Amino acid sequence: MRITIIGAGMGGLSAGIALKRLGHDVKVFEKVSDIKPVGAAISLWSNGVKCLNYLGLHRQIAALGGNMDSMAYVDGKSGKTMTAFSLAPLVTQIGQRPYPVSRAALQNMLMDEFGRQDVTLGMAVTDVEDDGATVTARFADGSSVQSDLLIGADGTHSTVRGYVLGEQPERRYAGYVNWNGLVEIDPAIAPADRWTTFVGEGKRVSVMPIAGNQFYFFFDVPLPLGLPNEREHYKALLREYFQGWTPQIQLLIDRIDPAATNRVEIHDIEPFMQWTRGRVALLGDAAHSTTPDIGQGGCQAMEDAIVLAHALQTNTLGIEDALQRYAKRRAPRAGELVLRARKRCDVTHAKDPAITQAWYDSLWQEDGHTIIRGIVGNMLGSPFD
Ligand code: FAD
Repeated sequence: MRITIIGAGMGGLSAGIALKRLGHDVKVFEKVSDIKPVGAAISLWSNGVKCLNYLGLHRQIAALGGNMDSMAYVDGKSGKTMTAFSLAPLVTQIGQRPYPVSRAALQNMLMDEFGRQDVTLGMAVTDVEDDGATVTARFADGSSVQSDLLIGADGTHSTVRGYVLGEQPERRYAGYVNWNGLVEIDPAIAPADRWTTFVGEGKRVSVMPIAGNQFYFFFDVPLPLGLPNEREHYKALLREYFQGWTPQIQLLIDRIDPAATNRVEIHDIEPFMQWTRGRVALLGDAAHSTTPDIGQGGCQAMEDAIVLAHALQTNTLGIEDALQRYAKRRAPRAGELVLRARKRCDVTHAKDPAITQAWYDSLWQEDGHTIIRGIVGNMLGSPFD
């Protein structure tokens, strides 16, 4: 089949790799001329890593993955460890290590595997039309392409979603701003092989190791939507928001490079079940836009890719039928995880301060079992359980 994919993010490229492996003629069209992923790094939980393993990328992803052996929560003000535990039980249960990875490295790996010659940059889709036999995608430069089916993997601001749903759902502001980037690993900030999260006042600071002796860091602060985004003030603002927090956090703020730091106002979209219209299907954030609070958005995009390819490979009642079967399998799981992330987001960011305080209190009693059970629970239901 001739397959058009809109969007060269992790979802679109994973789908492209999976579909090419089945022998299809796949072309990806990407809006931007210079791809710059929205964050510095990403934690790929074991379910996401397994999708990449399935696509034949196990060696490449293992080389990019950080050595994250344990996890800890630390009281942001006192610097005292609330809980610290090994992630080995999680790895044993699921059968795969999780990997925090640089987004740029992940993007490059997927582009190389898919084949850069089949990605056309600088092509913003504006309109989609399906005559029942052929899908036409039209682009901002006036050109168009035709194919047997089209996959809208064009992210949270998806244009294809508008075509599939007949309207654009509102994005919902989750109530907090996230700053993220990379710094060199320094044990004076946190142990090198640990995902450490400092918590307090509904705020959160996290560091996790990626390859190349770097920490992926992020700061979360509950704030109103639409405050000025001025790079030159990032450090001063973070010093203000985290005044009185442990010296490890002050050192981390000293180390960050504002020029290479991202600031994101976190949103999600109410889950919806209609992922297909005729020969057009949504995938990744276009279908299920989530807050990053359980680290599953990208992993779910990769699960979509595997299930979509499988549906097209194994069903013989036509493209529309296969796409509907894909959506039926994926929409409930992805939607459930959007809601789980939203709930986690509210607890972490003090939507109700009493509930957040109860969570902090519970962390002092935690031996890892409850947290690992929660993370494993997010992974169960993947195509590779
Ligand atoms: P995207 O990566 O957004 O790619 C969409 C692509 O489509 C883009 O390249 C865009 O330019 C292109 N495009 C858009 N419009 C058009 C158009 N009209 N025409 C052509 N192309 C178009 N997920 C995890 O699994 N683990 C994490 O730890 C994690 N952390 C996160 C932290 C933050 C701060 C954020 C914001 C998200 C995080 N996520 C995480 C979620 C993850 O980033 C997304 O779920 C993932 O990037 C979705 O991939 P995608 O391919 O669907 O969309």
